[in-house]
Amino acid sequence: MVSQTHTTHDKSDDATTDLDQSESALETARRQLRSAATHIDIDSSIVERLKYPKKVHEVTVPIKRDDGTVEVFTGYRAQHDSVRGPFKGGLRYHPEVTRDECVGLGMWMTWKCAVMDLPFGGAKGGIAVNPKELSPEEKERLTRRFAQELRDVIGPNQDIPAPDMGTDPQTMAWLMDAYSMQEGETTPGVVTGKPPVVGGSKGREEAPGRSVAIITRLVCEYYDRQLEETTVAVQGYGSVGANAARLLDDWGATVVAISDVNGAMYDPAGIDTASVPSHDEEPEAVTKYAESVISNDELLTLDVDVLIPAALGNVITTENAGAISADFVIEGANGPTTSAADSILAERDIAVIPDILANAGGVTVSYFEWLQDINRRAWSLERVNDELDAEMQAAWDAVRGEFEQRDVTWRDAAYIVALSRIAEAHEARGLWP
Ligand code: NAD
Repeated sequence: MVSQTHTTHDKSDDATTDLDQSESALETARRQLRSAATHIDIDSSIVERLKYPKKVHEVTVPIKRDDGTVEVFTGYRAQHDSVRGPFKGGLRYHPEVTRDECVGLGMWMTWKCAVMDLPFGGAKGGIAVNPKELSPEEKERLTRRFAQELRDVIGPNQDIPAPDMGTDPQTMAWLMDAYSMQEGETTPGVVTGKPPVVGGSKGREEAPGRSVAIITRLVCEYYDRQLEETTVAVQGYGSVGANAARLLDDWGATVVAISDVNGAMYDPAGIDTASVPSHDEEPEAVTKYAESVISNDELLTLDVDVLIPAALGNVITTENAGAISADFVIEGANGPTTSAADSILAERDIAVIPDILANAGGVTVSYFEWLQDINRRAWSLERVNDELDAEMQAAWDAVRGEFEQRDVTWRDAAYIVALSRIAEAHEARGLWP
């Protein structure tokens, strides 16, 4: 996983921010909420409620280090909104995890689940720790103790964590085991992103990249482009970037550039994506295998049809937005386009398909995993991929409907779909008591 690029600031909702670089996840989430609310007829009290998390849990997580000393870490779980179903979202282990970051990213999850029409609300959590400084045993003890501290507030019908930065399927297996031990029954549905042998879903790892590829295909169809005549540049060759690039390559597109942290491989004739190891298979192998290397900055401004930023946030800024030559930007990473750059791209008529739709395959297959767990029945990979395709098509159709009906960007259209669904659910349920 790449490091977090959203800086966190202790700023109020109305604080002015430099929209190009320094917006926190919380500010972004609230700005998107305000922006979507201006387009639809929605009760202002619902918008007010959605500005805040329902609950934020802060816990201390003491563990015994391998040298016998005891160290205490701080963990969080921010639960934003559950009007449509249990909370859902990742747990990250990263030194910069803060309360506000968890709240902001939890809100993003609310919008993402709603745009995909999944019966979940949004949450995010984590521990402020550098996982690289922990031995596997220490990480296991930390995870089990964290599970215990969160036990009352998570559960298959309450809040379902998943892997995020610094956590992985093994972390989820420990969390599920610790929870199950205390509950006295095996409860696979308490987390998603587990190894398949303990209830994880086939196809979960490649799902975010697959959804990016599916959305790219749908965009090409919508704009009457043949995939066979489409050139693609992908920044980042990790879980999201490599899976998206390989699928698009398989489907006939010409992938002309891919990159890792050190630079980009560029071949106008097309790259054989299967022959280049992904970040997972061999870290930072792209530049090692490349005959000609260009910089990551150059990759972003290549004259291609489709640009897929799939490495990290805030890479398309006011510095380079004027030079982006692609017709379509499909956001594989979370938050790759700053707000100011987004406006420039909109003025230049470059279609930007937002992260909450494009990379939502991960949470969608997490939903499939949860269904498999509560039904105690594993799906085939073919079924997972077919159902993911159907969910992406349905979400695309809903977003396209708003895009066509209103004079808005694809990003606004996606947030309008999400907010409308959440607002309708709030209206139907009412405010208790
Ligand atoms: P990853 O660690 O598997 O791969 C990251 C890739 O980006 C690597 O190829 C790395 O070399 C490259 N990279 C790192 N720093 C870079 C830099 N400064 N410039 C250019 N390239 C750089 O990560 P991932 O899981 O593919 O995640 C990528 C993005 O997608 C992140 O923003 C993440 O939040 C988002 N995302 C991931 C998932 C998921 O489930 N994996 C789901 C949704 C969104």
